[in-house]
Amino acid sequence: MIQFQNDRLTVFQSALYQTTCAVVEADEFILITDPNWLPYEIEEIQRYVAQIQNGRELYLLFTHGDFDHIIGYHAFPGAKVIGSKGLQEHPNKEQKLNLIRQFDNDYYIKRSYPIAFPEVDIMIEEDGQQLTIGGTTMTFYLSPGHTHDGLFTVIGQLGIWIAGDYVSDFELPFIHDSAKSYEETLQKAERILHFHAVKVLVPGHGQTTASEEEMKRRIRVSQDYLERLICAVMKEDVETVQALEEELPFPSSFTKECHAKNIAIIQQEYGKGSK
Ligand SMILES: [Zn+2]
Repeated sequence: MIQFQNDRLTVFQSALYQTTCAVVEADEFILITDPNWLPYEIEEIQRYVAQIQNGRELYLLFTHGDFDHIIGYHAFPGAKVIGSKGLQEHPNKEQKLNLIRQFDNDYYIKRSYPIAFPEVDIMIEEDGQQLTIGGTTMTFYLSPGHTHDGLFTVIGQLGIWIAGDYVSDFELPFIHDSAKSYEETLQKAERILHFHAVKVLVPGHGQTTASEEEMKRRIRVSQDYLERLICAVMKEDVETVQALEEELPFPSSFTKECHAKNIAIIQQEYGKGSK
């Protein structure tokens, strides 16, 4: 389903987890981010890309290596893959692939392409690294915290910021890597808004927004939630920690698990005996 569209950007949204896939139409190339989840949803993206491609080269950008984001990798053969060094050197590639296989088996899903972990052609190793294709420059920033291999991409001339699993309109921070890194990544997000003329923000889950006020609000909401959670965990304030779990929308065994993981990581990084 198309969630957002302007003359250069089309954002598809899966029925599952409101996961997004952005198709960016630059003068000299087409960029596709995290194509996902269900076969007919990926076919819709394939059809759209085939329609607009017009001989232009395809680039596939992965915002991170979580299985929902890499599930459509081989649906675009021949595309050049952009990803972080952390993605290329992911320590648990087989585990991520097993999650895809398990999902497909659970729902009797058949795909028309093989499942594989992305092989990165253009590796992003540092903040501010750029890639220029024709007249379009992409600037990349590492965004660890949610996962170790996160990547922010700003497509300068078009003012598009592809944020991966941060700054959603509804999803609160899920820390699978590091709370400290997550906080630093949110500060980086503030700097991105300061230094780049961002016109549109595409999160990995939820609504695309063209409002700068809304982008700033999302950063603040994440920062505020993390601060309160870290504070409550450090004080061992069980009641507040519980209330913070209840703030997570779409309560489920998934959000319960994520909340427990958030707490465990915060305890490790900020608890007694930690550095
Ligand atoms: Zn995700």
